[in-house]
Amino acid sequence: SVTGGGDDDSEIVAGTAPGFPPFEMNEGGELVGFDIDLLEAVVEETDYTLADDWEEFEFESLIPALENDNIDVIAAAMTIDPEREETIAFSDPYYEANQSVLVREDEDVDWETIEDLEGVTVGAQSGTTGEAVVEDELIEAGLIDDGDYNTYDNYVLGVEDLENGNVDAIVLDVPVAETFANDRAVEVAFTYETGEEYGFGLRQDEEELQSALNEGLATVQEDGRYEELVDEWFGN
Ligand code: GLN
Repeated sequence: SVTGGGDDDSEIVAGTAPGFPPFEMNEGGELVGFDIDLLEAVVEETDYTLADDWEEFEFESLIPALENDNIDVIAAAMTIDPEREETIAFSDPYYEANQSVLVREDEDVDWETIEDLEGVTVGAQSGTTGEAVVEDELIEAGLIDDGDYNTYDNYVLGVEDLENGNVDAIVLDVPVAETFANDRAVEVAFTYETGEEYGFGLRQDEEELQSALNEGLATVQEDGRYEELVDEWFGN
């Protein structure tokens, strides 16, 4: 059953990895973002209650935290992928994304494809699908050396390294790259299609919780609240 708190065993504890705007970030000491609001709206539609305090981890530590029962659900723009599905389950998808390559905006590079990254230094956040693109499409493909790849505990640190000139490119999810591009001295050079879908992560034995979240998600998508949150956080 769920981790819970006190006597109420239908209370669930959510975990996330801030530093991934606008999905989850710390603003003035407060955890905010699309995932935070969406999961809260979804759980409201179920018989579960969400513990007020979210647990914060590095992205890489979220799945272990779930498996160790430190949390009951991951809301962290986590891509549903077969490798992760060997150990955890996911809700239905709630957001679509691809990868992109972020560069310094004053650099005027004309990179358009993965091959154009040959010989440059790249970075990604540990344990992400962005890292998988670097490992599979750049290192495995022999376009860059192992030594020219930096990993970061979170993408904020990676973007800082990019601004400071310590790395030439950061590979990360498009919606987050666009958010960084709006706020900082970086821009998206090009997009790399991966067709990813984000889901809430759950333990494999939590089928009741999984169905409840899927139903809650469907309700929130049908009644317009999902669109409201998209407008609020992605500003259309
Ligand atoms: N969507 C990417 C992944 O699942 C990145 C998620 C993140 O960094 N929060 O690997």
